[in-house]
Amino acid sequence: MDFAYSPEQEALRHEVRAFIAEHVTDAVLAERGQSESNTAPGRGPGASAAMQELYRKIYERGWLGIAYPKEYGGQGGDRMSQYIVEEEFTRVDIPVGMGGSGAPAILAAGTEEQKQYYIPRLIKREISFALGFTEPHAGADLASLQCRAVRDGDEYVVNGQKMYTSSAHVATHMYLMARTDPTVPKHRGISVFVFPMDTPGITVRPLWTIQNDPMAPVGTTYGHQRTNETFFDDVRIPASSLLGKENEGWRVGAMGLNLDRVGASRYLISVRRDEDIVNFVKAYSFNGYSPASDPAIRDKIAELWIEAQVCRLMTMRSMSIVEHGGAFTYEGSAEKVWAPEHGVRTTEAISQMLGPYGQLLHGSPQAIEDGVFAHNLMGSFQSGINHGSTQVMRDQISRRGLDMPRK
Ligand SMILES: Cc1cc2nc3c(=O)[nH]c(=O)nc-3n(C[C@H](O)[C@H](O)[C@H](O)COP(=O)(O)OP(=O)(O)OC[C@H]3O[C@@H](n4cnc5c(N)ncnc54)[C@H](O)[C@@H]3O)c2cc1C
Repeated sequence: MDFAYSPEQEALRHEVRAFIAEHVTDAVLAERGQSESNTAPGRGPGASAAMQELYRKIYERGWLGIAYPKEYGGQGGDRMSQYIVEEEFTRVDIPVGMGGSGAPAILAAGTEEQKQYYIPRLIKREISFALGFTEPHAGADLASLQCRAVRDGDEYVVNGQKMYTSSAHVATHMYLMARTDPTVPKHRGISVFVFPMDTPGITVRPLWTIQNDPMAPVGTTYGHQRTNETFFDDVRIPASSLLGKENEGWRVGAMGLNLDRVGASRYLISVRRDEDIVNFVKAYSFNGYSPASDPAIRDKIAELWIEAQVCRLMTMRSMSIVEHGGAFTYEGSAEKVWAPEHGVRTTEAISQMLGPYGQLLHGSPQAIEDGVFAHNLMGSFQSGINHGSTQVMRDQISRRGLDMPRK
């Protein structure tokens, strides 16, 4: 197996780097940091003018939706090119991947009309979805969800509550899992719907996280400051909002979540922590002590870096399987265990290297780097829970990957 990039892929990487050096200026990043702090940068009409302009330029270069079919606004390219572009932009905190966008599930399960409408707009980042899965009594046990969608002529009427609907306050659309048949076993009576957030009867309330008090500084890359709870009161949506078949939503939702996990971002979020600490350690010295020459610190950083490369190879494997149309069963779950746990180990190790001042948060006069490392430590724990907890992922690996029986 050859892990090297081809000359064409290297050329693409250099092209993207040159574009970033020219267009992703400090002014653009500062505006993004102030206006959108880790919600859904560049997605939807709420994005700042500078970010919308940047995404327009990236789109014109043909770097959005590279691996998506041309008839749906993509480039009909290969996943490795998409990965390279995603990798470079994620390094400067500009997400260009389609993971978490809802597009993979729409492409796999949507009607022709849904694909034609949603996918080009998602690729251009004109619209975005909030994911409405979790409920107050249905998190890890998602199949217990109670939010109801009842068919009424050409419409469904939705009633219920969703928890942790991240980005629902900025998203243009909702990707909802709701119960359509309460009389059958719980996995079988669920359906997925996609519809606009401005449909009457939807209320979004903020759920502030630990990253909000004090607010995580610009440069923090782990953890949401805000998520939401979303209420549906007699929300009437057209029957055409159904994604896939009625009562087959468990399969549609699970497949979408699994495909959403394929991409560079999860690996890169962790790797960027490693790069940040290396840069910090190289530049830092105090009373003649230089951590860069401390053998214990060098050893730990090397260990973390090796772990990160494992994460990178897992990402490559997932992409290769999907690219070749192979069965993608447990691999996304394996990545979803390894990357967040690596992220927690990294941020904890950084905290130990920095000592007590490294734990001071944003706004404290003695905080190191304005508290970015401390906020990353707090935020890192979110990634082991959102998008499916690591415990649940381990269960999926044991059943789908190792063929172990259900307990
Ligand atoms: C920052 C953040 C953003 C999120 N964004 C979204 C979003 O956009 N949309 C959305 O729908 N949801 C979102 N979530 C919700 C997330 O998917 C759930 O929090 C997660 O599925 C766990 O559900 P729970 O919080 O109800 O915990 P619980 O289900 O109560 O679980 C509590 C703990 O017990 C463990 N556990 C539960 N059952 C088992 C089992 N059978 N075996 C082993 N361990 C088990 C879990 O892993 C967890 O550690 C987000 C969560 C966070 C923290």
